Amino acid sequence: MTSDPLRLFFALPCPPSLAATICAWRADALPAGKAVEARNLHLTLAFLGSQPASRLAPLLTLAAELQGERCTLQLDRLGLWRGGLLHLAPSRVPPTLDELQQQLHARLLAAGFELEERAFRPHLTLARHYPHPPTCVAPTFDWPLRHFALFCSENDRRGTLYRQLGRWPLRPATPAGRSAP
Ligand code: ATP
Ligand code: MG
Repeated sequence: MTSDPLRLFFALPCPPSLAATICAWRADALPAGKAVEARNLHLTLAFLGSQPASRLAPLLTLAAELQGERCTLQLDRLGLWRGGLLHLAPSRVPPTLDELQQQLHARLLAAGFELEERAFRPHLTLARHYPHPPTCVAPTFDWPLRHFALFCSENDRRGTLYRQLGRWPLRPATPAGRSAP
C-alpha cells in the first residue's frame, strides 16, 4: 500500500505567548483580510512541497545534524506584498538565522530536494487578502529563536493545520571571540 504524499516545510514556529501577543495587537490594529490563526504563525525556512512519505526519514536525519544557533529576531517592519500578504519582518536579519537557512538549504539540495532559488526573505505572515496598505506603525516584537521544526501542511474543514513531524533545538549562542567546540 502506498501512502499519500505529504506537503512539507521547515519553519520556526512562533512561541504561543508571542503568537497571542501578536494576534491581540493585530485584532485591534489590522482587522481585515483573512487572519492566520495564532497556532499557525511561523517563519518558513524551506518549502519542500509534495513529498512521498519515504522521504521523511532522510529529512529527519538531516535536520538533526544541523548546527543552528539561538538568537533573538526583532520583527519591526509591517509590510504588504502582492496579493495582499500582510506580514511582519525584521529590518535586520540576524546572521545566525541566515546561517541556519543556508545550512538547511545546502543539506536539502545535497540530499536531492528541489528548492526555490528566490532570496530568503524571512517574514511572519499575519493575514492574506489584506485589502489596502496598512497605515499603523507596528511595535517591535522580540522573538527568541530556540528551535526549528518540520511541518506537514494539511487542510480540513476547519482550515489549514500544520502537523509537527519533528522539532530540533538551536544551541546557545557562542560567546564572542570563542569558537564552538
Ligand atoms: P493555505 O495554502 O492552506 O492557505 P499556507 O499557505 O500557510 O495556507 P501551505 O501552502 O501549505 O499553507 O504553505 C506552508 C508554508 O510554506 C507557508 O509559509 C507558505 O508561505 C510556504 N509556501 C507555500 N508555497 C510555497 C512556495 N511555492 N514557495 C515557497 N514557500 C511556499
Ligand atoms: Mg499556501
